[in-house]
Amino acid sequence: MSGRLAIIGLGPGDDRYLTREAEEELSSAEALYGYGPYLDRVPPREGQARFSSGNRVEGARAAAALAHAAQGARVAIVSGGDPGVFAMAAAVCGEIEAGPEAWRALDIAVVPGITAMLAVAARAGAPLGHDFCAISLSENLKPWEAIVRRLDAAASGGFVIALYNPISQARPWQLGEAFARLGRHLAPSTPVVFGRAVGRVGEALTITTLDCAGEEKADMATLIIVGSPETRIIARDGRAPLVYTPREAAEVPA
Ligand code: SAH
Repeated sequence: MSGRLAIIGLGPGDDRYLTREAEEELSSAEALYGYGPYLDRVPPREGQARFSSGNRVEGARAAAALAHAAQGARVAIVSGGDPGVFAMAAAVCGEIEAGPEAWRALDIAVVPGITAMLAVAARAGAPLGHDFCAISLSENLKPWEAIVRRLDAAASGGFVIALYNPISQARPWQLGEAFARLGRHLAPSTPVVFGRAVGRVGEALTITTLDCAGEEKADMATLIIVGSPETRIIARDGRAPLVYTPREAAEVPA
């Protein structure tokens, strides 16, 4: 019997953000694999085994889940947000590409979830109304020079930029450096949104501008959206401002 591996996106926060498809996959899995805090979001089920692991061992977790599925089991790996965005789906594909032939015969399903960028954008208004891109600031999987090059290209190309993995204890200075780099291309008044733990306990949204954006406003649970030259803030009396990027772009980047 061919096994099945579902790679499931849990969305950014509590189970209001879980899709029906994700719920169905979670309830039919015989075993769940995942980073501890993500597994903790899934209520325990009778007879369902759980294998929790640290957040630095994606490859090993993917390989263990594939080996388990190859025994003929229905296995699921859970991921925060969307499993295809800086997350487990690519790690699983990497293990399949490098792994035994039998893993290619498995039934693989990637189950999408709401990624942090979309959850934060929705809280702020419509900052992703026109062209945008997403960049992870984590240097664990690529050199800092590559990140800098992409920041330059994105900002000079007129994209709104979502920054994932903005800061951690091991990477305290990179975010400040990234803002300085973006400031070479963008006006000080460019809107910047910090969305922390959106959809979860401790949620916080900060709307500011590039000249006031600093690393002290972010932590590991924060996603940052830096506007393009077109992005603007609508102030409203007694209500949170709306950040939006118009549907039409007049500016032509140099
Ligand atoms: N697969 C995930 C992203 C994993 S990378 C997704 O699609 O959302 C981890 C980074 O995602 C964090 O450092 C943070 O930048 C962002 N993030 C994840 N959940 C978040 C949330 N609820 N609120 C704000 N940012 C979040």
